[in-house]
Amino acid sequence: MLVADQSTCLERLALFRARLQRLFEAWKAKPLSVPENQFPGELLNALRTTGAFDALFATEDNGLGLCQTPEGAQILMMLLRKVGYLSLSLGRCLEGHVNVVRLVELYGTRFQRHALKLQLKNGSLAGIWVTDGSSPVTIRRKGPNYTLSGIKGFASGIRQVGVALITAMPQHGEALMVLAPTTDFERHRPGPGTLTGMQASGTGAYDFTGLQISSDDIIGSSGDYLRQPEFSAGAWRGSAVALGGMDHLIDLLRQELLERERAGSPHQLTRIGEALILQKTAAMWVHEAAQAAYSAYMRPEDVTSIINLARLAVEQAALDLITLVQRSLGLAAFIKGKAVEQIMRDLATYLRQPAPDEALTEAAAWFVHHDWPEAGQ
Ligand SMILES: Cc1cc2nc3c(=O)[nH]c(=O)nc-3n(C[C@H](O)[C@H](O)[C@H](O)COP(=O)(O)OP(=O)(O)OC[C@H]3O[C@@H](n4cnc5c(N)ncnc54)[C@H](O)[C@@H]3O)c2cc1C
Repeated sequence: MLVADQSTCLERLALFRARLQRLFEAWKAKPLSVPENQFPGELLNALRTTGAFDALFATEDNGLGLCQTPEGAQILMMLLRKVGYLSLSLGRCLEGHVNVVRLVELYGTRFQRHALKLQLKNGSLAGIWVTDGSSPVTIRRKGPNYTLSGIKGFASGIRQVGVALITAMPQHGEALMVLAPTTDFERHRPGPGTLTGMQASGTGAYDFTGLQISSDDIIGSSGDYLRQPEFSAGAWRGSAVALGGMDHLIDLLRQELLERERAGSPHQLTRIGEALILQKTAAMWVHEAAQAAYSAYMRPEDVTSIINLARLAVEQAALDLITLVQRSLGLAAFIKGKAVEQIMRDLATYLRQPAPDEALTEAAAWFVHHDWPEAGQ
């Protein structure tokens, strides 16, 4: 990129950052006004007006490179964290949307990247629905086209998502990524059951049985979805959203203790201090993970191991924070209808991410034999 182009891009990033900050300040002060199982559509629309969705695309496609460059990643981190603060459910859907943009940019053809951009131009959300439901999704060739069969069991934003990147098993080889339309309400199926948290994410199941697709809808080749480091690296974005939930809990904790004139107690101060340490620890891990995800020098195993550890560090910090908040506020933290109560349930649910034991032990196995990479090496 030319120096002049680069400085224009940095200026545009700074402008976007300022717009995002204004949106955040305006929404932060709003009390809970919608039922907890209602999708945060108003916030999603407000987010669109900041240009957040266009910003995800590469600069060549008039975006800000949020999914492509280390500078963009810093702003993406801020975006995910702030959205996580305002709504963990929207954060989950945004994170999925970002994942789709990133995977299509990495593995899709120029034509597919352009087609996705057009599809998302009207403001619809993209979903990443990879977790299979009662029958795993398969893909079979039928003449010049392909037919899908099976159900995706955890499909966030089921009513808002217009196109989903799903995995489908061919007869031979590893899973394929397919971009499939998801606007047929008759294909909706009951989801995993009523989750205790994250209800606003609208997580249901979607039946792809009988859906015909063409080779243009297949992204990359067999096995690309699981290809490292990207497969594990994407977890940093979920951690950034969870960090936003932690930020919100800390604010509510301080606010309520001040209102009840309990903040001066040495016991409460101890917990506030511990809570702040957890928040900053999680933030440092997310930062490290985001840097690793965009690193040009680290080995793929360094990247995946650092991000796996970051994911678990953030999970532990958030769980410890929930315990501290409950201890500090007492029963007041368990009253339905209060933001603090809902955020704790949302956060505890959101923290359930796949295979945490494997993530920890695989990272440990790598760093038993390898030194932690030095920054910039
Ligand atoms: C609100 C919400 C929205 C979601 N939206 C989507 C979505 O849009 N798209 C999507 O694809 N998915 C979605 N998911 C699903 C998500 O990606 C994970 O699949 C899910 O959260 C996994 O959680 P789990 O705790 O059941 O994981 P698991 O991996 O089942 O882990 C549970 C426990 O089992 C252990 N374990 C895992 N594997 C094994 C094994 N083989 N043998 C022994 N122990 C094992 C783990 O280490 C852990 O201790 C969503 C989940 C939530 C909560």
